[in-house]
Amino acid sequence: MNFQVPEYIRTLAPYVPGKPIEETQREFKLKHVVKLASNENPLGPSPKGLLAVRKIMKDLHRYPDASAYRLKNAIAQKEGLEPSQVLVGNGSEEVISLLIRTYTVPGDKIACPQASFIAYPICAQAHGVGTVRSSLLPGMRADLDDLLRVVRQDEKVRMVFLANPNNPTGTYVPDFALRAFLKECAKVRGGTVIVVLDYAYWEYVTAKDLSDPLEMLRLFPNVVVTRTFSKIYGLAGLRTGYGLARSEIWEPILRIKMPFNLTIPALAAAEAALNDRGFVSRARKVNEQGMKFWAKALDRLEIPFFPSQGNFLLCDVKQGLGLSGPEVYQACLRKGVIFRPVANYGLPDHLRISIGTPEENRVGLKALASVGRTA
Ligand SMILES: *Cc1c(COP(=O)(O)O)cnc(C)c1O
Repeated sequence: MNFQVPEYIRTLAPYVPGKPIEETQREFKLKHVVKLASNENPLGPSPKGLLAVRKIMKDLHRYPDASAYRLKNAIAQKEGLEPSQVLVGNGSEEVISLLIRTYTVPGDKIACPQASFIAYPICAQAHGVGTVRSSLLPGMRADLDDLLRVVRQDEKVRMVFLANPNNPTGTYVPDFALRAFLKECAKVRGGTVIVVLDYAYWEYVTAKDLSDPLEMLRLFPNVVVTRTFSKIYGLAGLRTGYGLARSEIWEPILRIKMPFNLTIPALAAAEAALNDRGFVSRARKVNEQGMKFWAKALDRLEIPFFPSQGNFLLCDVKQGLGLSGPEVYQACLRKGVIFRPVANYGLPDHLRISIGTPEENRVGLKALASVGRTA
């Protein structure tokens, strides 16, 4: 049969998620598997969120609130915005996808730095939109001068994506550089280029010179900020994220978004988790300790890594262990530890490690260190 499939879909390399624990147990006949592959919260879901899900179960015969009234209001109140400035999505990935589908046509382009979060080019290509990438500075940091050059130079670029900090590198752009970039970018093509600042890891940030996303939103009308409940709130499985922007930006998106993109449990959990401050601060603490543990351990193993502002870190296993990222990944899988190879990001020498609980970190390190020895 000759069904028509557009070229850009036939050639699309789909997103490769972190390997699930169950699948790894099955394939390698393992009882205990530790997953440090998807930047999930090792403490589990927010307890407040979990309780809200339990309470809401009796209402599952109803359709969810398509306007997400309560969740939008809760987010708006917390951030000091109007509810109309909030768009909630089935994960922030849906927000990203909706932005691209609304503000580009096939043949347009998006721009982002090399080694950016891979959802951007994938969502773009799914809509017939190409990606142009700017270069990196030493230390895997985005070069915003080059990004600006790319945006200015290529008339087809309608949107810019910048994860701050970025996944999988963990690196960030400092406040002075982001401000200067946004100021210049707001002048390109009459201020019509949308800049999406992806702050999925904002709650983990400890650096003092990482821009407050809300301030960038106030200063620049073409800025959109995305956030998520998948990371520090521990609700990745429920798929809840959101975008913050001027309401004009969301108005056309509300026309095309699926009415019930968030389920009743997702809406309830996110609303409750938003005020689970104790959990968020515990998660941050565990992450900081885990980050120190890994930094010290990787130093000892002489595996270079990039200082990270997220709940993960990227290390150069080629230099440290003499093996490629996918090779180290496979070797550790056999020992029951799932890390994340990032060759599809153009980083075949690297491996991304999500920070786990102290126990998970110890198990993960043991696997990684033993690969070094047998190599
Ligand atoms: C994990 C992650 C997200 C979150 O995606 P969700 O769809 O909200 O689960 C968004 N951006 C980046 C850079 C991420 O690493």
